[in-house]
Amino acid sequence: MPSSSKAIKKTAKKAATAPARKKAFNFNIDADVEGLKTSIQNHLTYSMARDTSTATTRDWWLALCYSVQDRILHRYIKTQAVHNEKDTRRAYYLSLEYLMGRLLSNNLVNAGLFDAAKQALTELGLDMEDILEEEPDMGLGNGGLGRLAACFLDSLATLDLPAIGYGIHYEFGLFRQEFIDGHQVERPDNWLQFGNPWQVNRPEYQVSVPLYGHVEYHFDSKGDSYPAWVGTKELIGLPWDIPIVGYGARTVNFLRLWESRASQEFDFSVFNEGGYVEAVREKAIGETISKVLYPNDKTESGKELRLVQQYFFCACSLHDIIRRFRKQNHDNWDAFPEKVTVQLNDTHPAVSVAELMRILVDVEKLEWERAWGICRKVFAYTNHTLLPEALEKWSVPLFQKVLPRHLQIIFEINRRFLEEEVEAQWPSDDVKKSILSIIEEGNPKQIRMAYLATVGSHSVNGVAALHTELLKRDLFHDFNELWPKKFNNKTNGITPRRFLKVCNPGLAALIDREVGPEWPFDLDRLRGLEKLSGDAAFQQEYMGIKRANKERLAEIIDMDCGVTVNPDAMFDVQIKRLHEYKRQHLNLLHILTLYRQILHFPEKTVAPRVVIFGAKAAPGYELAKDIIFTINKVAEVINNDARVGDKLKVVFLPNYRVSLAERIIPAADLSEQISTAGKEASGTGNMKLALNGALTIGTLDGANVEIKEEVGDDNIFIFGMTVEQVLELRASGYNPWNFYRGDEELRHVLDWLGSDTFTPGQPYALDPVRRSLLDGGDPFLCCADFRAYIDCQQRVGEAYLDKPRWAKMAILNTARMGKFSSDRTIREYADDIWTLKPLPVGE
Ligand SMILES: *Cc1c(COP(=O)(O)O)cnc(C)c1O
Repeated sequence: MPSSSKAIKKTAKKAATAPARKKAFNFNIDADVEGLKTSIQNHLTYSMARDTSTATTRDWWLALCYSVQDRILHRYIKTQAVHNEKDTRRAYYLSLEYLMGRLLSNNLVNAGLFDAAKQALTELGLDMEDILEEEPDMGLGNGGLGRLAACFLDSLATLDLPAIGYGIHYEFGLFRQEFIDGHQVERPDNWLQFGNPWQVNRPEYQVSVPLYGHVEYHFDSKGDSYPAWVGTKELIGLPWDIPIVGYGARTVNFLRLWESRASQEFDFSVFNEGGYVEAVREKAIGETISKVLYPNDKTESGKELRLVQQYFFCACSLHDIIRRFRKQNHDNWDAFPEKVTVQLNDTHPAVSVAELMRILVDVEKLEWERAWGICRKVFAYTNHTLLPEALEKWSVPLFQKVLPRHLQIIFEINRRFLEEEVEAQWPSDDVKKSILSIIEEGNPKQIRMAYLATVGSHSVNGVAALHTELLKRDLFHDFNELWPKKFNNKTNGITPRRFLKVCNPGLAALIDREVGPEWPFDLDRLRGLEKLSGDAAFQQEYMGIKRANKERLAEIIDMDCGVTVNPDAMFDVQIKRLHEYKRQHLNLLHILTLYRQILHFPEKTVAPRVVIFGAKAAPGYELAKDIIFTINKVAEVINNDARVGDKLKVVFLPNYRVSLAERIIPAADLSEQISTAGKEASGTGNMKLALNGALTIGTLDGANVEIKEEVGDDNIFIFGMTVEQVLELRASGYNPWNFYRGDEELRHVLDWLGSDTFTPGQPYALDPVRRSLLDGGDPFLCCADFRAYIDCQQRVGEAYLDKPRWAKMAILNTARMGKFSSDRTIREYADDIWTLKPLPVGE
């Protein structure tokens, strides 16, 4: 059996003469089956002390990971040697979250080792599928923001861009979700329990981080006073590095994650005073900082530990960046912005602005103006949301307690900004000053972190065209008047490696055959499928792959939900964090409407559907948990109603995460992207699903607008109010009761939720959802968009019954999604924000 890497090499030779080719297509790692087999067996013996007769699947998984890691590390060492030797400019990506998922399958594909490893395992009597399933997800993020960071790392390495990601080495990632009687229950995610074969510890680069204490004024030898941050407690940051393999394995960058430890000196002083128990307790506190990821998506609650996490990881990362800079550039601080560019992923790392100023002014003794000039050249900030509840603010008293010197620095940044820049633009305008102030008046005063990030950066970007326009119009209106060139758009993207080649090998092979194997790093080549969209034989192949993917998902649904579903039914998918603005409850209203229609018109032909949900709710978000419970209860009744049969099934897959997404996405027919217009900044799930041939039903929100432009109006289902119409409706005074009274079907389904049909004997169990849509004022306008949504779903159902039409639309979606490769996004960041050039690493 020829390995596909050989096949790829052959194709590469043939294609090397093609004029449009950008890069040689070869993998840099030797895919030698015998070598891999030996390596796996050696690791089993020498790394894990196991023999083949007692080895479990997990042991084999680890042995394979170590064998792959060995091969990756050679390229990693080579890459870092070249970057250091050339003293290259680097991009530093600072993110509190990285939703990486599993690394083995992705590393195998990116390193060109997949087929060789599969062969080696077969020869050892093992099954690749089983072994890949052993790996726990690396779930160090909540949702889209953390997954974006992971896609960006993949693209940075693939494009040979010198870059390092920085984050926190959480001991517990996002909670594991279970359902008990339909209710979400959170369990700890102990992802490190059996070890992490991908991480490399770097104790030689540990960093000491001060916290708390107070500011005193000391005098230097010339009698000048200077601020001194004293009486601090020290934490230690210990780095763990995860290699990031680019596709083709030329560049291997890394992600550096900081674990917190209590400092030695600190403990000893307490020990010496005889406070043994106290010392151990303090040590435990020091080690809680990186213990757990906060499970909130798009809400911040101002908790002290969260602020400490943010500062801890920023201080460690900046210290590390400066250490690397000094090795080559000594004390020439003017060279710093030439060597360093830092991207802030949302405001979570915005305290970096104050920390860099503290280092430059207090430690390095630079003049304020010079330090500030350096700072603004270094930082760029990405905004991810307009939702007011998601905009980070820290209370001044809390900041005073945790970071007293940084608070002074932020006040000074603000004073100069208002008195110099705002004053110059709008002389004597106190209203403008209070609008633009980093400090929000009130009791207590609050620090607006989005404003700090904006004032301290040379670039502020939104994540989709519509989102960036709204940012400029609303949140940053006056900043945009002051600095119009600072604001720019970078529409999000997704890596086509994980979200097509790895997760949908059937479709990937079909695409290889039709457009050649280069599409994973040149996604626009998918356009070559357009001409086949009407071809009956190709449609059959394409839909045959979809069908096989649906069968595989049906097995998972059977195992995880205990529901048997028909793979010929439309798989109607909504997978994303549970949030009112994403409107899973609007989807629920459609389900209830369909159910009623099936009961009222049993002879009518309907497109059979399986409605599939995947979503975690933040543990403190009561209404989100109520929505999960309501969907689960409605599902139970519908799935057991013999009158319905295969016409409608509803399943809520527990524990939505990256590895589950990789199973659902290739099997989806319909992608639900139904947020209230103006609320979803971009979305990236919408891109993953469309790329894999799911048709979108969506509002004109976030990147849906750009997906529509790419796939064409005939190949997407758009419904509902636009941003402008939402604004008008609110301005005229929105009252959901008017829609309730005006639409009989809406009235029936809402009343039904208020009954005990779905919770026999408990008549008000589902009332919270109904109430939020009526008495609660329906803040996300489900009632207003209900009719348009139902009518649009009717058109979707009709389209699904026309098989050739549906197949053509699905193929055209895959063919036209090239724009949404994260490679395109990262090229734009590199060109427009970072001025960063690729540095090929060579053999
Ligand atoms: C892509 C992804 C998301 C983001 O989905 P949206 O629909 O854009 O909100 C969230 N969670 C996981 C696991 C993902 O893979």
